[in-house]
Amino acid sequence: MWVLDDNIQKIINAIAEKDTFTEKELKKKLKIKENEIRKVLYRLHELGVVYPIKTVVIKEGKYDYEWGARINDIEEIYKIIVERELEKLEKEKSSLPEMVYMCEYCDLQFDFDKAEEYDFKCPECGSILMPKRNLRICEIEETIQRLKDLLVKARQLKLQITN
Ligand SMILES: [Zn+2]
Repeated sequence: MWVLDDNIQKIINAIAEKDTFTEKELKKKLKIKENEIRKVLYRLHELGVVYPIKTVVIKEGKYDYEWGARINDIEEIYKIIVERELEKLEKEKSSLPEMVYMCEYCDLQFDFDKAEEYDFKCPECGSILMPKRNLRICEIEETIQRLKDLLVKARQLKLQITN
């Protein structure tokens, strides 16, 4: 999950402090690779948080890119990002079966219909398939919790800045 990455949070926090900035400024300040910075800026652009202003020619063949921030409220920025990601995760979660039927020996898993078709026995080794909570659902729930924690953190950051 991109927004849970430390470097990405550094980039977001730096953007919230400025109305305009360039990629090289961020690179120098944060010591993060330019292509990593640009990738985050493109994502934030898609979400309406930043907008490209212009290419700056440093010297022949060397360029920098100037960007502007549409939103400076750090809590608001995280809210926009987190809400979009939560929406995607909830959608994925609701499309997954809650339980899967597993062969612990072969590390295979099946949904209910498939497992029933095999008479709840592993088609490879013949041992009984055991019902287990879908691991992907556990992962999604963990990520959802981390995203919610991030919103709390963003609120605290905002309070630090405004006080
Ligand atoms: Zn098996």
